[in-house]
Amino acid sequence: MSYRSNLEKVLSEGHFVITAEIGPPKGSDANKIRDKAMMLKGCADAFNITDNQTAVVRMSSFAGSLILHHMNMEPIMQMTCRDRNRIGLQSDVLGAAALGLRNILCLTGDHQSFGNHPAAKGVFDIDSIQLLQIIKNMRDVGVFQSGDLLLAERPCVFLGAAANPYADPFEIQVDRLRKKIDAGAEFIQTQSVYNLEKFSKWMDDVRSQGLDKKVHILAGVTPLKSVKMAERMKFHVPGTDVPETVYQRIKNASDPAKEGYVIALETIRELKVLQGVHGIHITALFWEQIIPSLVKDAGFDTRS
Ligand SMILES: Cc1cc2nc3c(=O)[nH]c(=O)nc-3n(C[C@H](O)[C@H](O)[C@H](O)COP(=O)(O)OP(=O)(O)OC[C@H]3O[C@@H](n4cnc5c(N)ncnc54)[C@H](O)[C@@H]3O)c2cc1C
Repeated sequence: MSYRSNLEKVLSEGHFVITAEIGPPKGSDANKIRDKAMMLKGCADAFNITDNQTAVVRMSSFAGSLILHHMNMEPIMQMTCRDRNRIGLQSDVLGAAALGLRNILCLTGDHQSFGNHPAAKGVFDIDSIQLLQIIKNMRDVGVFQSGDLLLAERPCVFLGAAANPYADPFEIQVDRLRKKIDAGAEFIQTQSVYNLEKFSKWMDDVRSQGLDKKVHILAGVTPLKSVKMAERMKFHVPGTDVPETVYQRIKNASDPAKEGYVIALETIRELKVLQGVHGIHITALFWEQIIPSLVKDAGFDTRS
């Protein structure tokens, strides 16, 4: 069996997978990516390079992914529909595949009004579901969105999407997940899980529709580093759900970072045994240095 990427291989073989996010720098220093990558080497099976997350300008995911690829580490290139139209997106898919990038996470993207260029024009020519379908057709059928044929090699890529079990209305989120799977998503990375009860209920719905058999779900884990971060996640970041019990534990702790670490460990242990969850996606915002010990303390072996 030949696999398009290591991520596809480890998921297909039934291993519990770890992915970790590397946020690119607000500057053109490649060493900022290399240093984080060296710190995280062996901790995860693949590494997400975000695409101007929160609509704040950073080094491109394409460039960051290539830097990682040249270090023999496997990137997941993230692509949002906010900044490029279907011509730009399809062109970048061809370029990325030509240069050896094998995983793409398709996103609609955070709205530009939340970022550092709020007057920017949002493109949103297509959304994440259409992007998935377009890349799938380029790969499997050999056609562009226009219907024109690809005249050279098809992009050999493993496709992913995001899901948010906490977005309102809750009832349509599994439906949206199904649409993403039908459009071509082969793996899913979820919004950070703090409310395990609600996540388990979402997974019940996912399993009842048999979707866990059609896609690999990686549950998001974001350790809370401080009371300020817990408050930001609880009160200001749309689509996150930090339960009062979690918030109070951080707020009342003598060492909030230590408590946040313990909560993340407890969450990972619960996710590990939750039926239908095939891995975790760690997003340690401005705290990537804890990922190696978190992975070790959670009982995972070193990754090759
Ligand atoms: C693992 C993960 C990684 C992420 N990485 C990034 C990143 O690198 N960069 C970034 O910017 N954001 C990123 N995000 C944030 C993400 O884009 C937002 O949370 C988004 O709201 C949900 O994910 P999505 O992009 O797949 O949106 P979707 O599920 O496609 O859509 C989200 C919402 O937007 C609405 N929508 C879709 N299309 C349009 C449109 N044309 N106009 C208006 N509304 C529309 C949908 O109806 C839906 O309600 C990430 C999120 C996750 C969970």
